[in-house]
Amino acid sequence: MPILETLGPLAGRPTAQGPALAGSAALRKHGRLPAPPLEWTPEVERATAPLYARIQNVVPSVEWPFFAPYVKAINELKKKRKAVILAHNYQTPEIYNCVADFVGDSLQLAREATKVDADIIVQCGVHFMAETAKILNPDKTVLIPDRRAGCSLAEAITGEDVRLLRERFPGVPVVTYVNTSAEVKAESDICCTSSNALQVVESLGAERVIFLPDEYLAKYVASQTKVKIIAWKGHCEVHERFTADELKLYREGDPSIQIIAHPECPPDVIAEADFTGSTAHMIDWVRNKRPKRVVMVTECSMADNVQAELPDVEFVRPCNLCPHMKRITLPKILDSLLEMKEEVVVDPAIAAKARRAVERMIYLKS
Ligand code: SF4
Repeated sequence: MPILETLGPLAGRPTAQGPALAGSAALRKHGRLPAPPLEWTPEVERATAPLYARIQNVVPSVEWPFFAPYVKAINELKKKRKAVILAHNYQTPEIYNCVADFVGDSLQLAREATKVDADIIVQCGVHFMAETAKILNPDKTVLIPDRRAGCSLAEAITGEDVRLLRERFPGVPVVTYVNTSAEVKAESDICCTSSNALQVVESLGAERVIFLPDEYLAKYVASQTKVKIIAWKGHCEVHERFTADELKLYREGDPSIQIIAHPECPPDVIAEADFTGSTAHMIDWVRNKRPKRVVMVTECSMADNVQAELPDVEFVRPCNLCPHMKRITLPKILDSLLEMKEEVVVDPAIAAKARRAVERMIYLKS
């Protein structure tokens, strides 16, 4: 079924969506801790050796003396603070493999966020993910190590745009990708991720659905369902850079190569792929198929993280990095735990409405 209509901004553009901060409320509640020593010593080397073993095939040994003191300090501070770290699949290997308590795609992290037994959640990802964690855990302190970690999709649409769409298409349900602000989620009927977008759209039993804000994900869903999709012109600045021509060149160079793509990619890129799926589905695909050579058409760090686990698979890396994900670093995570920076706050009325849309997705029966 083709896309019914693709729309762009309807409302005047507001200021860029940024994190709502609570000043020093979290600091007042949890207090500041003194900075730990960060020298590379034999003791640090011994204590972190099992962690380095996990990433030694993707992080050169010459870099480990810089990372290791931070890894040790962060893991000790997490216990002291009763904190957990949620890390997205696009985080760098030393974060993903050495300090994270839970890793995954947006759906997995949203689910984990409902279960965490901790006072503090540190979200190593981008701001909308931290906001989702806060929406699901209104009584916990949620921190993001760099408040500038945004997302081009989340910035593509506002709550006012959704209200205007509802006026234009009365009665048509609104499905919103989790890559949106809390305000946009609050205006939606249900959220989705790239893992469950088709299932969510079909769960509504509607003839037409407004699907926001990723145009390419909307097109991918539309190609697999009879439901008519009204799309929005939002794009991921990382995935839209991949081209079908570069993938054709990989195939020409090695006809046996496997190409797997994220559905945020443009349709002609997806058409070149052997498999299309969310980051979690891509990882499962590689784990199960164990291809000899594979191109992962998504953010570059994910190939490093899967490579750390599967050294026998050769990853060809068309390296597009997400500048927002890469704002999160070990020194900033440490600072976050010491100084309670940066606290994410969501207006309680908006959070209550957004929670309905997120929970409706999380508890959707598969
Ligand atoms: S990779 Fe794309 S969708 Fe993901 S956070 Fe970066 S800009 Fe947003």
